[in-house]
Amino acid sequence: MSVKIEQIYAREILNSRGKPTVEVEMTCTNGLTVAASVPSGTSTGKYEALEIYDGGSRYHGKGTRKAVENVNQILAPAVIGMDVTDQRKIDRRLIELDGTKQKSRLGGNAILGVSLVAARAGALALGLPLYRYLGGLSATRLPNVMSTVISGGAFSPSGLEFEDYLYVLDGFSSFHDQVEAISDMRALLQKRCAEKYGVIADFANMQLLVTEFIKKEAFETMLSVARQVGCEKHVFLGLDVAANELFDAQKSCYNMKSGCMEAERLIEYYQQLCRNYPLLYIEDAFHEDDWLHFSQLTSLLPEKQIVGDDLFATNDERLKMGIEKKAANTLLLKVNQIGTVSEALKTAAMAKNNRFEITASLRSGETNDTFQADLAVAVGAKQMKLGSPVRGERNGKYNRLMRIEDDLMSAVI
Ligand code: PEP
Ligand code: MG
Repeated sequence: MSVKIEQIYAREILNSRGKPTVEVEMTCTNGLTVAASVPSGTSTGKYEALEIYDGGSRYHGKGTRKAVENVNQILAPAVIGMDVTDQRKIDRRLIELDGTKQKSRLGGNAILGVSLVAARAGALALGLPLYRYLGGLSATRLPNVMSTVISGGAFSPSGLEFEDYLYVLDGFSSFHDQVEAISDMRALLQKRCAEKYGVIADFANMQLLVTEFIKKEAFETMLSVARQVGCEKHVFLGLDVAANELFDAQKSCYNMKSGCMEAERLIEYYQQLCRNYPLLYIEDAFHEDDWLHFSQLTSLLPEKQIVGDDLFATNDERLKMGIEKKAANTLLLKVNQIGTVSEALKTAAMAKNNRFEITASLRSGETNDTFQADLAVAVGAKQMKLGSPVRGERNGKYNRLMRIEDDLMSAVI
């Protein structure tokens, strides 16, 4: 007998940055109630689904009462009575009700809340773990851990240009082992940086309050920590350049410490970094409309992961362009960039079918919802960008992935 959506209730809650977001509860005819909540980014690209905020004085304009009202008054009545396992039909209806390209009428934050909670309720209705409900029986691969340990870029006080300096783990025998390694490395890195530079502004991200910290030093400290922990063979480096934030459209170059650097010079710089360090992963190497230089970099560095975050915005039309232009080889998957579960799954499937790798990712404004951990396993993501393993909203995802690993290990084929 099919399980139908009976009731939906949205409310405003706070995210990990202390800013409002949307939580949605759903009750179905099987008597079960579940909840889901919506993440939010800081360095958002212009092709992402748009979030709706209230404006005015509450929460400096960032209240989500309007988005909540859109769920309770417009989206809920339209999906109540639908079969909760018919995710595509539910998402189709949400998309049609909004009717805009970037979900700007009702809000990506309102729409995603309903889409996420429907998927969770659908899994429960069938008695399946969420990752298996979304990904089927072939969803058996745990992602490798990728963790931002040093932050730079436009939103950090450190002296580094690029947004994220990441550890990229590969070749560990289990996810549990990766968690142990990344936890040890983060703690040691914090100790080393504190000894050398004193004050650290944000212990979670290791945002250093020093301006002399340069890329060479960031990389070398990270590698030396990996050696001390004894896992250097399986630890590589990654960068999220977040180049939108560096791009000067008038001068058509990227604002680096050494001056404004043209794309061609930036390519040489990336090549040089790859020669000197075990750098495996470069995300958003250029601004989101610079297909040409993305394509050049991808062909020059075929062994590296060239990753589109703002470039693709988890949008299948953007990814299709990227595939045609060979502009990258990895999709960054963030469900709130596109705004429904079905659309995110469609983009992920397109990536897979075209031999792109997938990196599932958190947003910097997270909640305690662990949905993306299940999604990462469902789509067979090569890795997951999880942030440092501190703070509840991140460790919730690490812990969820360890539970999924236990679940999968109980019957190894
Ligand atoms: C990112 O750019 O990869 C990221 C996670 O940033 P944010 O969530 O802040 O947009
Ligand atoms: Mg990014």
